Amino acid sequence: MLPRINHNEGGTHVSHRWKRTLVFLLALALFVAAVAPILAAPSTTSSAKAEAKQEYWASAKSNKFHYPYCQWAKKISPANLIVFKSREEALKAGYVPCKVCKP
Ligand SMILES: [Zn+2]
Repeated sequence: MLPRINHNEGGTHVSHRWKRTLVFLLALALFVAAVAPILAAPSTTSSAKAEAKQEYWASAKSNKFHYPYCQWAKKISPANLIVFKSREEALKAGYVPCKVCKP
């Protein structure tokens, strides 16, 4: 009688541990599923490509040139906008880099 009770208790104890293990494994699986795509994602270093396409904007009314996203570049009116295909081109034309966007 006594061993039977002990056996039953042991059985419930084991199944309880199994449930906890199962929950842990499920949580682990969810974690892996969430993190794996981030880790597996290829780190595309397309900075070289972006640099090749990089344009620099300058105003005909100033001697500064900017990245197109610069707040000052956006203030250049289309009539005065000068687009340089490279930094060297802008420098050769006598333009100096903007101190805000530092192109
Ligand atoms: Zn700027």
